[in-house]
Amino acid sequence: MARSAQESLPASVVSAMERGGSGMDFSEIDLQGVVAKLQIQSRDSLAQRLPGTSPYRADRTGPSGATQSQFSGNTGSSASPAQHSRPLDISSVRLDFPALHQSIHGFPLVWFDNAATTQKPRQVIEAMSSFYALDYSNIHRAAHTLAARATDHYEGARETVREFIHAQSKDDIVFVRGTTEGINFIAHTIKGFLREGDEILLSEVEHHANIVPWQMIAREVRARIRVIPIDDSGEILIEEYRRLLGPRTRLVSLSHASNTLGTVLPIEEMTQMAHHHGARVVIDAAQSIAHMPVDVQAIGCDFLVFSGHKIFAPTGIGVVYVHPQLHDVLPPWQGGGNMIRRVSFDETIYSDAPAKFEAGTPSIGDAVGLGAALQYLRQFDPISVEAHEHALLEHATRELKGIRGVTIYGHATKKIGVVSFTLDGYTTEMVGKELDRRGIAVRTGHHCAQPSLRHFGLESTVRPSFAIYNTHEEVERLIEAIVHLSRRR
Ligand code: PLP
Repeated sequence: MARSAQESLPASVVSAMERGGSGMDFSEIDLQGVVAKLQIQSRDSLAQRLPGTSPYRADRTGPSGATQSQFSGNTGSSASPAQHSRPLDISSVRLDFPALHQSIHGFPLVWFDNAATTQKPRQVIEAMSSFYALDYSNIHRAAHTLAARATDHYEGARETVREFIHAQSKDDIVFVRGTTEGINFIAHTIKGFLREGDEILLSEVEHHANIVPWQMIAREVRARIRVIPIDDSGEILIEEYRRLLGPRTRLVSLSHASNTLGTVLPIEEMTQMAHHHGARVVIDAAQSIAHMPVDVQAIGCDFLVFSGHKIFAPTGIGVVYVHPQLHDVLPPWQGGGNMIRRVSFDETIYSDAPAKFEAGTPSIGDAVGLGAALQYLRQFDPISVEAHEHALLEHATRELKGIRGVTIYGHATKKIGVVSFTLDGYTTEMVGKELDRRGIAVRTGHHCAQPSLRHFGLESTVRPSFAIYNTHEEVERLIEAIVHLSRRR
């Protein structure tokens, strides 16, 4: 194990570094991590002094086509990193994530719980801490300088989200607390357009966040929920979907990618099919947003939702994209300050979107963190990110398949970096605990998507899930642990 910096460096050096405000917790970070962080700090400050020499600013042409649009060029602040400007060097990426440089039970942490939530890069932590230290205020409602700065930060984050998902206007971007709140918001605003006997189509792989709100609304308006089935590889049965669509279909709500089976749904085709029948389409991009290009105009959806915390941003912030044609049609879902133009005791005139959908003081600092996270990710070519995570997925799948007693669920042709499996002779909890003992964090359980597991007669799986900062060495550590358990049966 690497020794801590406190143990390894002379006391005078450690205290000089502490006095210098290096901002590092010496008890938590190993020496290698400390040195690497210092190297990055010095490289950053050198780059500031010598504009144009930063390796992060090197000109690099990204791939052409629709995929580019997700990370498309920021015209805003000069502090923003240029799109795709940074080569995908995983060891350098890892240095941005302080949490990855700690030991758990004596082992270097392996964070394979990315489908549940992602770790945060120092760029996000620093953006939020600088906002709270210097620029914090409530937004929109005052003439003073800090209110103007905070408003600029908040609205700047909205513009960053717009660019990232390639929306037409930043007015299409509504901030919410996360995917769950986003889907509840959509369900409540759209409720008034649903009638008895109308049909809402959901797929069998949906997360509970994309099932329960629709059930609640359906019960209220006497609409009917119908389920698009999957086959045993976890693939959507597109002909069944075609059969289910009809004149009663009002709404189709789909995961872009399944959090249990990893299946990437053909959402562009499915959206077109739904629109052909006049139905509105909601896309739950919670699992795709950090792992593949997401372009709302290419998808053609009416709504798209995601959570910040699954894309290296803090908890407490999420996004609902609302198609511009729906801004005026939809009613607000919550009333209060910030969302009005004029109020009297007789009537209220609402603001335009997006303010109309954002009652009360929003999660300003978390929006700043989301903006910083998207700026962070847009430095990298999304094709390289996808390819790296896919290589990890293939590696893990190939090795796990060869272990006696392991069964993998979900073999769709197009998958995100999620592997759901069971191991004979062990509960999933036992596997999770053994992995944790070795410093490897994975999720075990039903992953809040019980119907998708019940398709296979299961209540629970072990689910490692990968992100940009994971490595093949970490996959090997997972495999070693599962081989060990398999041999002990
Ligand atoms: N949808 C999918 C596909 C998810 O994977 C998740 C979380 O795991 C959610 C929705 C809910 O996200 P949140 O808990 O951030 O609201």
